[in-house]
Amino acid sequence: MVPALEKIIAESDRIAFFGGAGVSTESGIPDFRSVDGLYHQKYDYPPETILSHTFWEENPEEFYRFYRDKLIVKGAKPNAAHLRLAKLEREGRLKAIVTQNIDGLHQAAGSKTVYELHGSTLRNYCVKCGAFYDVDFIANSTGVPRCPKCGGIVKPDVVLYEEGLDEEVLSGAVSAIRKADTLIIGGTSLVVYPAAGLIRYFRGRHLVVINMQPTGADAQADLCIAKPIGQVLSEDVLLED
Ligand SMILES: [Zn+2]
Repeated sequence: MVPALEKIIAESDRIAFFGGAGVSTESGIPDFRSVDGLYHQKYDYPPETILSHTFWEENPEEFYRFYRDKLIVKGAKPNAAHLRLAKLEREGRLKAIVTQNIDGLHQAAGSKTVYELHGSTLRNYCVKCGAFYDVDFIANSTGVPRCPKCGGIVKPDVVLYEEGLDEEVLSGAVSAIRKADTLIIGGTSLVVYPAAGLIRYFRGRHLVVINMQPTGADAQADLCIAKPIGQVLSEDVLLED
């Protein structure tokens, strides 16, 4: 708990939260963009190449091998940050979460209004007939997952590189940020576009950044907190300022 942040939260009733990978690292979900020696040992391409639409089309076996190995995380649970944000929504202070994460942990924590800019690993669809499949279907498949009904490829509802963001999700996110009185940016260095460009729609009173590394929004922020976000949003521990 950070007193300066708690004061801002107490004064706000239309908070929007904009989050990235750092929100989920405390749940044991690694940021696939962070430098990770494992990629170089096991894969011939960088993650940005493998997770592109072209690669999915041309090298589906390798795509799904990487996807099952790196993007599906079994047994992850919401952490103190997810839980506090869900509580702020229940209390009527927070109106929406905009996330770049694809792990569904905000909903698992109880959040209702969540704009998932990059989709979710929990949803998967047959590209031919549109049938829905859950994450276990992909996790338990081998090779290229095929629809049992029609034989089409089952594709994760995750926005790959080269693919555009979903229009409805995007406009919902823009509207929530535009109407917010406080915008809390957390666990993201704001380097992934177009998602990171959304914060320019914010017109409210308080901009807060919670991130271990500096971000492009620090200069405009009222408050920058360089501490783990679960710790910052937790109500249990009083941190010294
Ligand atoms: Zn099908």
